[in-house]
Amino acid sequence: MTTASVHRAAFHAREVGAPEMVCDGIWAVPLPLAGSPVLSVFVHLLRHDDGVVLVDAGYADELSWEALLAGLAAAGHRIGDVTHLVLTHNHPDHIGLAARVREASGAPIAIHPLDAFQLQRPLRGSFFDQLERELTLAGLPPAVLEEMVASSRALAAHSDDLLVDSFLADGETLRLGSLELELLWTPGHARGHVSLLDRSRRLLIGGDVLLPEGEVQVGLVSDDDDDPVAQLRDSLRRLAALPIDQVLPGHQYRFGDVAAVVARTLGEQDERLARTAAVLARRPDATAWELTTALDWGRPWERIGLTGRRFAVMQAMGWQRYLERRAG
Ligand SMILES: [Zn+2]
Ligand SMILES: [Zn+2]
Repeated sequence: MTTASVHRAAFHAREVGAPEMVCDGIWAVPLPLAGSPVLSVFVHLLRHDDGVVLVDAGYADELSWEALLAGLAAAGHRIGDVTHLVLTHNHPDHIGLAARVREASGAPIAIHPLDAFQLQRPLRGSFFDQLERELTLAGLPPAVLEEMVASSRALAAHSDDLLVDSFLADGETLRLGSLELELLWTPGHARGHVSLLDRSRRLLIGGDVLLPEGEVQVGLVSDDDDDPVAQLRDSLRRLAALPIDQVLPGHQYRFGDVAAVVARTLGEQDERLARTAAVLARRPDATAWELTTALDWGRPWERIGLTGRRFAVMQAMGWQRYLERRAG
């Protein structure tokens, strides 16, 4: 198998791209993310004897829904053929259409318990409660905090009320005829992030845990026990050691050399951590917000939109937490 050039070209042209057969019985279907700088998300279709497993579900809007139906049709399927819906994690670009897919197909929804809102809400509050807590901990001025939370709310529906039907456990295998998918808990980008390994085809559906280009966004730091950078680094090392020839990520394009992508990502994180440590050495009492504005994001701060700024604060929070935990 070779890496796909079609989706890579689409990514570089900032286009959404078209559904594509990755190998016999597996399709990558890009769904548009209207209004998001991320542009699109891949959902994956995996055929088995009695239908298809759908991995992830796009934004909760008409545009995503139409693209999903078109992707199923391109693969020779209809929505009623979906027998299982597996969610890699609970971000709005991955779960938006989940309830609608279940309603149309009857397929049960599965997610890791740490990303199941019905279990996490009573413990940690809603997504926005957690985001507000993180931004408060980061020391954002109240007006900026308010603006950032409002823009996040406006960007996408968060489906916080989604009730899933079953919970995924690390190491569990989903067996459907000849299709076998091993579930790997790969936290860091989200607390309950999972990846799916097809050992016979040496293929990984990776969600958002590793990307061929750029940084992986780290998860929320809203509670004392959150250390998403450490989790992400462990997840990446774990994946690098697995028998994988091809990764089908949630964004960008599929790629082959897992070890190289992991090495690049860890190396860039090392640099980020070193630069963060240097700022903190000069200003030990800096808040994560002060840290965010002091760090280099590859373009002038004034030109970064609210979503980009929120992502930047979340990264800085992650690095600060990681360094704090390992200091002295
Ligand atoms: Zn995500
Ligand atoms: Zn995503």
